[in-house]
Amino acid sequence: MSSLLVDNIGELVTNGAGEGPLGIRRDAAVLVEEGRVAWVGPSAYAPAADHHIDAGGAAVLPGFVDSHAHLVFAGDRAAEFAARMAGEPYTGGGIRTTVGATRAATDDELRANVRRLRGEALRQGTTTMEIKSGYGLTVADEARSLRIAAESSTETTFLGAHVVPAEYADRPDDYVGLVCGPMLAAAAPYAKWVDVFCERGAFDVDHARAILACGQAVGLGVRIHANQLGPGPGVQLGVELGAASVDHCTYLSDADIDALASNRIDCMCHEGLHTTTVATLLPGAEFSTRSPYPDARRLLDAGVTVALATDCNPGSSYTSSMPFCVALAVREMRMTPAEAVWAATAGGARALRRDDIGVLTPGARADLVVLDAPSHLHLAYRPGVPLIRQVIRNGVPQ
Ligand SMILES: [Zn+2]
Repeated sequence: MSSLLVDNIGELVTNGAGEGPLGIRRDAAVLVEEGRVAWVGPSAYAPAADHHIDAGGAAVLPGFVDSHAHLVFAGDRAAEFAARMAGEPYTGGGIRTTVGATRAATDDELRANVRRLRGEALRQGTTTMEIKSGYGLTVADEARSLRIAAESSTETTFLGAHVVPAEYADRPDDYVGLVCGPMLAAAAPYAKWVDVFCERGAFDVDHARAILACGQAVGLGVRIHANQLGPGPGVQLGVELGAASVDHCTYLSDADIDALASNRIDCMCHEGLHTTTVATLLPGAEFSTRSPYPDARRLLDAGVTVALATDCNPGSSYTSSMPFCVALAVREMRMTPAEAVWAATAGGARALRRDDIGVLTPGARADLVVLDAPSHLHLAYRPGVPLIRQVIRNGVPQ
């Protein structure tokens, strides 16, 4: 494979050694070989390479890591969104509408939808995207959802416990038995993670614990949708089970914060001590359901590792844009621009337990985003503006 040099970078966000929390280097260059970052240093001392991209003084960041997305579905729920904006509350009940449309779709229709959304995200700088199942809710439909997801990502998540489908409404115990038994067996070959929507109206803490433990027993990593619509036991269950991430975290008690903050490991990475269970915040969901945003400051001030992700799904957050989430986090959640950019790159990588992405240091995967702007600050400062000039994924310009 040939080499690629990106030079004349005005501001390089490395999330490694450098200035401030983003490890910024000025007037920098990045050499890419074999799909990996081979060298980072001053542009004036950059080695020669087969191919060359002149960043023209612009900012370069690691590609965004979107650690929470639901892309395998059919249909849309624009009418439900309009009704919500006219005053109807969000309850999560609309998930069943998408389940009906997804079951009725062909494999090719589902595949085309995943590729459309994955392409949309890539053009907005997302180089890694987790993809969940959860709109099939039968053994065959969950297995095919994950098989299709695995064509577009290695970060695939079995979410058979998204809601209890209508045909099991009166017997949720039986549905949990199905999820832990034949559904998990059919889904696991295509999945890396197991997830549960632990919420009133979805799965209670005992069901959630049983499902996550079954997933763990067959080697899947744990993540959980928790504390989105109200206070609840989901966050503490996630910490108890060693989840890589607890997602949403909109309603947190002091005990939830303590559980997240006290769960630390001493890491060899440049941050040293950090929390093992990441709190992943999904402000697109609060935006699209007109709900109060999570208190990011409280988490950050307690020392909890925070990630940002889109929650891209047709009901509660139909955006694939990480720059939009960064802007929301800064404007609505009082994160600094640096905290938000870190959370959307290195934070997402941490939420997927990956150390090869979300950073631009030698050895990392060469996932780079060249902005049409001189600084990462512009992602929040210029909301809604297409600032992604060029995306390089695995060392390949897209
Ligand atoms: Zn979700």
